[in-house]
Amino acid sequence: MHVLLATSELNPYSKTGGLADMVSALSRALAGSNLQVSVITPLYRGMAQAHPAIEATSWRLAIPLGDGLVEGRFHCQKLSPNLTFWFVEQAGFFDRPGIYTEANRDYADNAARFIFLSRAALILARHLPNPPTVLHCHDWQTGMIPILARHAQWHAGWAQPPQTVFTIHNLAFQGSFPAASWGLTGLPSDWLHLESALHFERVNFLKAGLTQAQAITTVSPNYAREILTPEYGCGLDGLLLKRYNDLSGILNGVDYEEWNSASDPALPSGFSAHDLSGKAMCKAALQRELGLPEDAEVPLFANISRLTDQKGSALILQTIRALIDAGESFQFALLGSGERALENAFGDLAQRFPNQVAARIGFDPALSHRIEAGADFYLMPSRFEPCGLNQLYSLRYGAIPIVRATGGLQDSVIDPRDNAAQATGIKFTTYSAAALQKAVLKALALWKEPAWLQHIRHNGMTADFSWEKQAAEYVSLYESVCRE
Ligand code: ADP
Repeated sequence: MHVLLATSELNPYSKTGGLADMVSALSRALAGSNLQVSVITPLYRGMAQAHPAIEATSWRLAIPLGDGLVEGRFHCQKLSPNLTFWFVEQAGFFDRPGIYTEANRDYADNAARFIFLSRAALILARHLPNPPTVLHCHDWQTGMIPILARHAQWHAGWAQPPQTVFTIHNLAFQGSFPAASWGLTGLPSDWLHLESALHFERVNFLKAGLTQAQAITTVSPNYAREILTPEYGCGLDGLLLKRYNDLSGILNGVDYEEWNSASDPALPSGFSAHDLSGKAMCKAALQRELGLPEDAEVPLFANISRLTDQKGSALILQTIRALIDAGESFQFALLGSGERALENAFGDLAQRFPNQVAARIGFDPALSHRIEAGADFYLMPSRFEPCGLNQLYSLRYGAIPIVRATGGLQDSVIDPRDNAAQATGIKFTTYSAAALQKAVLKALALWKEPAWLQHIRHNGMTADFSWEKQAAEYVSLYESVCRE
């Protein structure tokens, strides 16, 4: 079987969030289980220079988009005999400072940019000497692929296009554009209707994927159930209910080669569940790096994320403020970027309380590793969380996660109240600063019980979220869509 994964982000080449990590790790795990795997993604600014192993090919593209013809070229990197990454060069679309946005504003031509990517994926799928049997699309940016494939089958003589699987990494981002953007797809106007991509009189790329793909997955079993409800369904719960039999949830795994605390090149010292001395050194080094007082006795909490309502950033802010006011002894380190008001508020807090709070505004993968390694607790009070990766990284790096029981957080963290012997973190239910504060107070109490703390930390560090098991679930799914 040959699987082609289409994605707008791919770690370590491009990344704004978990999508990049997931596709990278899944493709490697699938290739490791002897599937033939290809990945297609844009060649964004600076990637070819940063990764000299990416080679330009002579395969050029000319794709009709609306009234124009847009040219491009494939670049390629062969990682192993059965894993190939394809990069689509189109300087006008992808040689830009941002991936989706610049100065917090979406690029105005995002519809055209990602239709171009989708069309390029189909050209690759159609003309590779060993064509893929399955085309696995990820999020709205590649949501138009299944309908474009159907059209190519029925009207452009493509006898056997691949079966399509569509994975939802975040239902809240739908790629909704004015109805006129349908013209960019080259599809007949009567193909735009409520059973395809039309949603509130706009073209909705995510909906196109959900209505047209053979199978739909999302990145945790719990989120797969939640999105069938109005509370989490982002206006698409009715459609998802109709496709209930084709929807499944497969929890993301961790790339333990990248997240290996014993050999992580970003860390000043390695450590493991059996020898935590290196973690103490990582904590001290992190405190120095962030300008916090170097103190092994004070618990260090952390958060690394997009600063948005989804991630509960404002709850963290309120909780930290309240606990400082209450005179609690702790430190807090933040790495993130997002809404300006939140960036400023965390920056202000760090300035006012430099001995307790450090805030780094920006996107810094190496620092994110050092924070996971140095932290004692990790805060993740998400309003919704399709899977969440940082709680998984935290578990492995010994930063006990404090999470809201939603989506993949519910699936991946065990609270002592549910199972004391196997507990790995602290969970709370209500999306409120008061509930988060109560959970943090529990963590502060746990800090004073070293044996308990060590028990929970050890459980988390030895829990196994490797990709092999999860990749096998994708293989079964691919096999089942191929049998249809
Ligand atoms: P989402 O994809 O919704 O943003 P996930 O938890 O699934 O959330 O994945 C986020 C990924 O992005 C993680 O690998 C996390 O470490 C990383 N990340 C988020 N913000 C930053 C940042 N400011 N600097 C470095 N890495 C970040």
